[in-house]
Amino acid sequence: MGFSSIFNFASRDIAIDLGTANTVVYVKGRGIVINEPSVVAMEFHNGVRKVRAVGDDAKLMMGKTPENIKTIRPLRSGVIADLEVAEQMIKHFISKATGGGSRFSGAPEVVICVPSGATSVERRAIRDAVSNAGAGKVSLIDEPMAAAIGAGLKVREPIGSMVVDIGGGTTEVGVISLAGLAYCESARVGGDKMDEAISSYVRRNYNLLIGEGTAERVKIEVGAAQHTAESEGITAVVRGRDVARGVPSEIQLTQAQVADAVVEPVGRIVHVVRSALEHTQPEIAADVIDEGITMTGGGSLLRGIADVIAHETGLPIRVADDPLNCVALGAGQTLEDASYRGALVSV
Ligand code: ADP
Ligand code: MG
Repeated sequence: MGFSSIFNFASRDIAIDLGTANTVVYVKGRGIVINEPSVVAMEFHNGVRKVRAVGDDAKLMMGKTPENIKTIRPLRSGVIADLEVAEQMIKHFISKATGGGSRFSGAPEVVICVPSGATSVERRAIRDAVSNAGAGKVSLIDEPMAAAIGAGLKVREPIGSMVVDIGGGTTEVGVISLAGLAYCESARVGGDKMDEAISSYVRRNYNLLIGEGTAERVKIEVGAAQHTAESEGITAVVRGRDVARGVPSEIQLTQAQVADAVVEPVGRIVHVVRSALEHTQPEIAADVIDEGITMTGGGSLLRGIADVIAHETGLPIRVADDPLNCVALGAGQTLEDASYRGALVSV
């Protein structure tokens, strides 16, 4: 083993995509080591609250906790909604990713992604939360920039490209050229709003109350952004509690019904993309005609959403490979390749 590989092995520098739905952690020289839900279960005991579970373990508890345990999504709306819990979560993931102990001296350098719409106050809050969680040097990168790098776009060249990242809490549209964000727009609509729309559809039409987890599962199993020839024949079983009778009950939903349920959030996503296009400088817009739009984030996996956006914009749309990991991969790339350091931003 040469010196360089020893150093690689010893590297604890990490990049974190602190998403509203999922946190993805990249370790320099190793790639993605963690991809878990951004959920923390807090336990209350004698007026003190402490962490009971984080990530996958905490998500399994959602909607099923006793009185003294609460599952919290500290980032729900795109920015840190519960700073203390967010810090605990970051601490947990940093320690899990770097092996916890201080076998290798020095605190890790951390590159953390921030929503492009975050204010400077919110950026400082995120930076401080990461510092408090035990990081050494902390650098920030805008999420659309990280997504573009992770999707393999030529961000450093004088060629405009557009990425649309549909996450749990937000949709971010970024226009990038020369390693900078030429324009960005973000809206509080994404996978969560689709889940809520499915829940209210089921409640309205069937008097059935369903949990967040069930709505998300239905969306992933049979969800679609539009009707297709097969939509009537594809179904999912949905279980919940009958509001009128107060007993557990189940129904079947077709893909066409789920597509109807999510019309509103999908329309809002289309609206954000169109609005960003309207604000894009003409020379960059000309590039986007050639290069098309690249989609990232878990929401880009909704069946047919790329087709809907292609139809509404008249532009070619490509869903990135590995859309759930693009942001972390792109942020990680700034640790691996110094020529990407220009993409990092200061608070
Ligand atoms: P964030 O960056 O906000 O953490 P992600 O990019 O990790 O969000 O995407 C999470 C969202 O993507 C969730 O709302 C999840 O339900 C949704 N999602 C994941 N897979 C699919 C799929 N196959 N179809 C539709 N939505 C999906
Ligand atoms: Mg994201």
